[in-house]
Amino acid sequence: MLAQIAALGLCGLVSLTAPEPVPGWPGRGAAEDGATQATAAEDNRPPAEQHVEATDTETIAPIPEPRPEPGELREVFWVTVEAGPPEVVGSTFGIGGRRLLALNPKLKPEATIPAGTRVRVFRYDDERPTQSVGAPNRGRLKNGIPLPEGPYWQLRDNRRRTFGTHLAITSLLAAFRNFGTKHPDGPKIRVGELSRRKGGRISPHNSHRTGRDIDIGYLHTEEPVDKKWVRTTSKNFDVQKNWELVEALLNTGNVQSIYMSARIQRRLYKEAKKRGVPQALLDTYFQHPRRPGSEHAVIRHSRGHHNHLHVRFRCEGWNRRCRALSRSRKRRRS
Ligand SMILES: [Zn+2]
Repeated sequence: MLAQIAALGLCGLVSLTAPEPVPGWPGRGAAEDGATQATAAEDNRPPAEQHVEATDTETIAPIPEPRPEPGELREVFWVTVEAGPPEVVGSTFGIGGRRLLALNPKLKPEATIPAGTRVRVFRYDDERPTQSVGAPNRGRLKNGIPLPEGPYWQLRDNRRRTFGTHLAITSLLAAFRNFGTKHPDGPKIRVGELSRRKGGRISPHNSHRTGRDIDIGYLHTEEPVDKKWVRTTSKNFDVQKNWELVEALLNTGNVQSIYMSARIQRRLYKEAKKRGVPQALLDTYFQHPRRPGSEHAVIRHSRGHHNHLHVRFRCEGWNRRCRALSRSRKRRRS
């Protein structure tokens, strides 16, 4: 496993151009998937994240691998938080009323779905497999898979942006379960936004377009009551548990990069070192301390990531249309 991770880290050693300039938080765009601006505002979305992402001059060579079997992701169910007609529940769940009814033949179009109802939100279709297409900041997602609910993590009530690739979702499930079984009493992992079912642009993110990006709240010494991201301070940051969560993610072998603020990265580096993570692996994982080539480490500094971290999963090796790195804004001639 360690060799695999190290190899993955080395995959990042491609020639990179200067970091992409990051705009401020743009105004919210048009409502998506039938959502109104009002519901978007009620969604307690986190403040703008400002990724300074590496941009590429070449694509990371994918690891050859066959297209995966759906496995436990053949079907995904979610439980409704609020009662509502299929239209509303379908919209909140990012699949629309018609699809919700098609996936749940017992539901009646005109009847209210009570709160606490378990509904099917995804069924794997061999004819329409899930596929990430293009660059994280330019592409889209075909037939995204919803992240299932689970005992150790907390999804938001609004699920329109909770879809990912098969590799991203299976890796998250593995990491969350790995962490959660060690900490069954919590804190629960707070899941932010991934992508829309069909991917594409989502404000205020630069990326999150292809089902490979996810925001996760840092774990705090006291579980926040508020659903919003909580600013991390030296007092509330649980360095042990945050490292264990990051390590669980890294151990999936499928993480391409993790963006976090430099201050937090330093603390996790010290914790990992204290726990005896070998220096060679620390060098692969962390950009800290700065040294030649360290900008290609898995964990990188990115402004705006003081209250949540951002994980990007790699392209699946079978997928020729997935582009590993974000594209530069400048048009390239070749
Ligand atoms: Zn993000």
